[in-house]
Amino acid sequence: MASPSPAGMLFENVFIGLGSNLGGREHHLRLAREKLRSHPEIELRQQSSLYRTAPVGVLDQPEFLNQVIEIATRLTPQALLHTLLQIERELGRVRDKKWGPRTIDLDILAFDQRRINTTELVVPHPEIRRRRFVLAPWAEIAPDFRPPESGQTVAELFASCNDKSAVHV
Ligand code: ATP
Ligand code: CA
Ligand code: CA
Repeated sequence: MASPSPAGMLFENVFIGLGSNLGGREHHLRLAREKLRSHPEIELRQQSSLYRTAPVGVLDQPEFLNQVIEIATRLTPQALLHTLLQIERELGRVRDKKWGPRTIDLDILAFDQRRINTTELVVPHPEIRRRRFVLAPWAEIAPDFRPPESGQTVAELFASCNDKSAVHV
């Protein structure tokens, strides 16, 4: 839930999904977390373990490492998205094919209880209920969080997820 800061400004709780399947994957995840943590408008609240997961969509590419973190921020959703895209660029992400290999992918899974549907940002992320590699780490850190519109907690979404792809801690 959103909570007021000492200055009276609203911090909102946001969940971010991180993924990497190129090069030093753990290193990329750690660098991304450090860049977020050092941002003046962002506090890192929780982080899941790292999960080794088989690729989805484009199958002939290396295994992913995935993680979900919780931050608190005063940034707007659009400003946070631009911060994430900037960090992806700093970590050398090249966008070529959809769902192809990447040094780092940073997705906004949920932004407190907000619903956003613009050309550049859809929140909650539309694929969450179909993705075990998101729900497994998310359920580890926030089993009782209820993404808006889902009508279920993250733990319930995980339990009823039909994605059977391998996810190992
Ligand atoms: P997917 O979104 O299915 O996981 P992807 O992460 O591979 O696919 P990207 O190429 O990383 O997709 O992102 C393409 C665009 O998606 C971004 O430039 C951004 O504008 C948009 N986008 C829409 N909703 C979100 C969101 N919730 N989090 C991050 N990016 C989003
Ligand atoms: Ca993604
Ligand atoms: Ca993305």
